[in-house]
Amino acid sequence: MRFETRAIHADGGPDSGTGAVAPSIHLSTTYLHAPDGAPLFGRLYAREGNPTQDRLERALAALEGGERALAFASGMAAAAALAEALPEGAHVLFHRDVYHGVRTLATECFGRWGLAASFADLTDPAAARAALTDATALLWVETPTNPRLEIVDLAAAAALAREAGALLAVDGTFATPALQRPLELGADVVLHSTTKYLGGHGDVLGGALVFRRDDALARRAEALRHRTGAIASPFSSWLVLRGLRTLACRMERHSTNALAVARALAGHPGLAEVLYPGLPDHPGHEIAARQMAGGFGGMLALRVAGGRASALAVASRLELFANATSLGGVESLVEHRASVEGPASTTPDDLLRLSIGLEHPDDLVADLARALGAGAGAAER
Ligand SMILES: *Cc1c(COP(=O)(O)O)cnc(C)c1O
Repeated sequence: MRFETRAIHADGGPDSGTGAVAPSIHLSTTYLHAPDGAPLFGRLYAREGNPTQDRLERALAALEGGERALAFASGMAAAAALAEALPEGAHVLFHRDVYHGVRTLATECFGRWGLAASFADLTDPAAARAALTDATALLWVETPTNPRLEIVDLAAAAALAREAGALLAVDGTFATPALQRPLELGADVVLHSTTKYLGGHGDVLGGALVFRRDDALARRAEALRHRTGAIASPFSSWLVLRGLRTLACRMERHSTNALAVARALAGHPGLAEVLYPGLPDHPGHEIAARQMAGGFGGMLALRVAGGRASALAVASRLELFANATSLGGVESLVEHRASVEGPASTTPDDLLRLSIGLEHPDDLVADLARALGAGAGAAER
């Protein structure tokens, strides 16, 4: 079955008790057990999970091609569980451009958890190899990356991880399984902020880990989730499950819209650079074309000529694009990431990150052209 069909039907089907076609939501926190504590219906307490979360997990595993998926309360809860499931003393090697929250988790929390972290340019095989240590247990990459839209070759990263006796984790939040399936390219774990495209409507916080094998690492992450309580609530699970059903259509439109915007803005005198892997002159274009299918995603970044002040001025003149954090919803958003990430930010201060929504691309291009036209280039001439 093709992805589009699986996205609709994975763990779907009517409820056998009622015939309801849409999934039901069970809010009960507790379930009947025998006097000796033996579960009578397979579950005891909602901190272990809930029936809607189980359905979401089976659907996510089917869409990524993994044996086991775990849903979490947020993307960061999933990231933390993955890190904490590693053996004590493990070193995690991150690609240098990584979601700010994950970088902060690594720099602020890993030490206390007995883990080490370092960052290297994993698009450069020599730099990647040089950054490995004897303790490297995990390579952790995003592709495309947040927020610079860099592309990491996943097959090459998987080969390097194997050579080093390490695992490869891929944060697939930007691409989603509709466009890229890292487990098929050799990755061991896929991380998602389901808050973004999988939920798809800016109204649910969630995360997920999808494991190639239902192995010891997956079970440790699940045990940690049970201990710490970072599960996806029944309603959150339901919203993400509903988002999955339209994922293939939405990613197609997000991608064609973003490509249209990138093409329209490439070479604009108010911009130093348009960062979008779908543009042929993007340094990762060929790798992205090989490892992604059906589009390059809905995220792009602009480097505004004139630096920080010009970037903020452009952001302030946009009307259709709301200045707000997050991404992957139906409405277009813009964000000056360096401002939001604060003093520890590694993002260039001329960069605006755009989450291209599902509006008509001509309206988005017109809004950007107007905001840029009166800005940097023009105003300073
Ligand atoms: C948003 C995001 C996260 C964190 O997810 P939350 O759901 O906000 O906790 C992790 N990785 C990437 C790439 C993200 O964009």
